[in-house]
Amino acid sequence: MAAPESGNTVNVLWTGGWDSTFRVLSLISDHDCIVQPHYIIDRKRWSWKTELATIDRIIERCAQPDHVFKGQLLRPKVEERDAIADDPEMTAKFQELLSRAHLGSQGEWLTRFVKQKGLRGLQFCIHRNDATRSFLAGQVRERPGFPTSVYVLAEGVDPALSIFEDLEFPLLDLTKQEMREIATRKGFLDILELSWFCHRPLRGPATCGTCTPCIDAIAQGMGHRLGWRGHLRYHTLRHLKAALPEDVKRLLRPAVQVLRRSQRAKLLSSAKRLDNRDAAAIPIERKGAPR
Ligand SMILES: [Zn+2]
Repeated sequence: MAAPESGNTVNVLWTGGWDSTFRVLSLISDHDCIVQPHYIIDRKRWSWKTELATIDRIIERCAQPDHVFKGQLLRPKVEERDAIADDPEMTAKFQELLSRAHLGSQGEWLTRFVKQKGLRGLQFCIHRNDATRSFLAGQVRERPGFPTSVYVLAEGVDPALSIFEDLEFPLLDLTKQEMREIATRKGFLDILELSWFCHRPLRGPATCGTCTPCIDAIAQGMGHRLGWRGHLRYHTLRHLKAALPEDVKRLLRPAVQVLRRSQRAKLLSSAKRLDNRDAAAIPIERKGAPR
């Protein structure tokens, strides 16, 4: 496996979401370290451009003089999900885990990516209430390290879980609310609030109020992050669902599925049209430290 860039570099998978943004900000807030984020473009996701723009905005915000950080935050290394080579053995192990309970697809391609890039020790920010955490319960051990201790896979665990063996899990003990409290105490909550979570952002960008992360945000006491458009759509849909009789909902279901399929096809077609030149135009491609 390749060694990290230097002894004080921490590699983090940064999605622009709450958990990984918290980890990145915590590291540079508390430690004299270099944080090298990694972002993987999944062109089948509606939100990837918004996530990259969010990351860019957060990096610029960290460079403003009203925040002083001990560590240094680099611009992310960006990779394409479609460029990650197949690995039937790892995919089979992932499918075995998936047959037992729900597991985000991110875990499948991320673990292939880490293995192929030799990125042993990449930090994957799963929080205490994350679905993936249930797979890791009782299967990890705390390991002291730089600059903080992290959880890693324990010895002799379930063989299917070995796909996670190169990853570190720094946030397994924390809830999103606890992250908020820490960020408030350490003075970077305003930057953490810039993080993105909606899977189907509207122009603006604004949250959709109807995707799973939007609904989860409300359930987890983070509803303020939806903004007025997200709230309006969330409550409209909720009331509509409650008001419509079951047989009307049943009649509407095929139309909703057709609409979703059509939107999906539009997204995939748009993804195909993008060439390498488009990818290079993404602002986040700039390399080097922001300050
Ligand atoms: Zn949403």
